[in-house]
Amino acid sequence: MPESNAENRPRHVALPLKYRPMTFEDVVGQDHVIRTLRHALESGRVANAYLFVGSRGIGKTTLSRIFAKALNCLSPKGAEPCGECENCRQIAEGRSLDVVEIDGASHNKVEDVHDIIESVKFAPNVSKYRIFIIDEVHMLSAAAFNALLKTLEEPPPHVKFIFATTEGDKVLPTIVSRCQRFDLRRIRTAQIAGRLRKICDAEGVKATDDALLAIARGAEGGMRDALSSLDQLIAFSGGDITEEDALSVFGLVSRKALEDLAGAILKGDSAAILKSVDAFDSAGKNMRRISGELMAHFRNILVYNAMGGKSASADLTPDQVKTIAEQAKGVDPGRVFRIADRLSELEDRLRHVLSVRTVIEMALLKCARIATVATVEELMQAVRALKSGGQAASGGTAPERPAPAAPPPPPPAPPRRTYEATLPTAAEIAAAAAAKKTQAAAPPPPPQAAEQAAEPKISRRELLDDPALNDLLASVPGARIAEIK
Ligand SMILES: [Zn+2]
Repeated sequence: MPESNAENRPRHVALPLKYRPMTFEDVVGQDHVIRTLRHALESGRVANAYLFVGSRGIGKTTLSRIFAKALNCLSPKGAEPCGECENCRQIAEGRSLDVVEIDGASHNKVEDVHDIIESVKFAPNVSKYRIFIIDEVHMLSAAAFNALLKTLEEPPPHVKFIFATTEGDKVLPTIVSRCQRFDLRRIRTAQIAGRLRKICDAEGVKATDDALLAIARGAEGGMRDALSSLDQLIAFSGGDITEEDALSVFGLVSRKALEDLAGAILKGDSAAILKSVDAFDSAGKNMRRISGELMAHFRNILVYNAMGGKSASADLTPDQVKTIAEQAKGVDPGRVFRIADRLSELEDRLRHVLSVRTVIEMALLKCARIATVATVEELMQAVRALKSGGQAASGGTAPERPAPAAPPPPPPAPPRRTYEATLPTAAEIAAAAAAKKTQAAAPPPPPQAAEQAAEPKISRRELLDDPALNDLLASVPGARIAEIK
């Protein structure tokens, strides 16, 4: 690197700038877009206009410039720009006369578009194409859009448009329909971490894998943010970056802490939940991010269950998959679904509240209840099991079967009633049922009796009035179901 300042210290170039991708090959995480662009370049079937849509910092401008270079490069290698010819260098440095970059936010008036339309008529100075890159194109006024329409539909053969926007929905449909639209993806955490590792190696910076993962998580899919944060952390840590450093910059909590919190929810451990929330809050962690990441964790458990034990996300590290597998093992998928659902409501609510901590505490305690409290199905199962067991055990010998009589008329449907329930946990109800079975232990019913003793049918409604249920609940402290008069 040339030493340019008076003190002979190497000039610091910001990492996002220094490692800005120069070729399609360098771009991370947008393979679906790049494949199409390369193919268009190789086959010579380049559209008049392109629209790149995606959140900030994921490479829209970078991709626009690479595409512009590839179109105007004097000695392209296949679809890749050479990066060395006069055109490539001028575009990279933003001084090409044939590639015009316009900020749509500040040049959004109809007069600005008229300037473009006027200049479209002229042939390019030294290149094959005149290329207009309009950033934040959704900011153009409706009049400006309309002025652009005609030119966009039939531009001269030497003109190409490349539009970029963070808000694809705000671009007029008539414009979108005249473009090839590409939606850029948020870049996967693992892909960002991989890129950060390469850069750290090149820069001689030490960083743990967990630290790089934390930076990648914090960047939420944006490579530029990830590189800026890496830059900041190198300055902060003097070139030896730990996970703790990275987490504190973003207000994130460690993977481990997050997984422990999820574990506490699944176990219904309210004390551990409140302790975690307190620790995160006093350490100034970003509570909204925690709630989002917690939801993602439960989603991963759901997906893991649904995929029959395969992790569906390529974005997880082997350690994460291990924890998810362990947590998925002991829990009913229905409960996980309801927890994830509750957490997604929480995310919504957090946008509008000031007392974030209280709302999170309440929601997590609710999740802990969802994770553990017996469901109606479980109660029904327990009562059914008790009844079939009790019936079979009561006689000791094969009960004499009465001659089949005419079935009694069905009872009239009982009026709708409201109940108030304090339900035990699934584990408590299972233990209580097991205890009752042991009490009633008796010689096993003879085979033919067992055949006859089909599980008694209980509907949800009957369940609530069933003495067996009340009997069962009575043996669990605090549990009860009562009709509200
Ligand atoms: Zn070139």
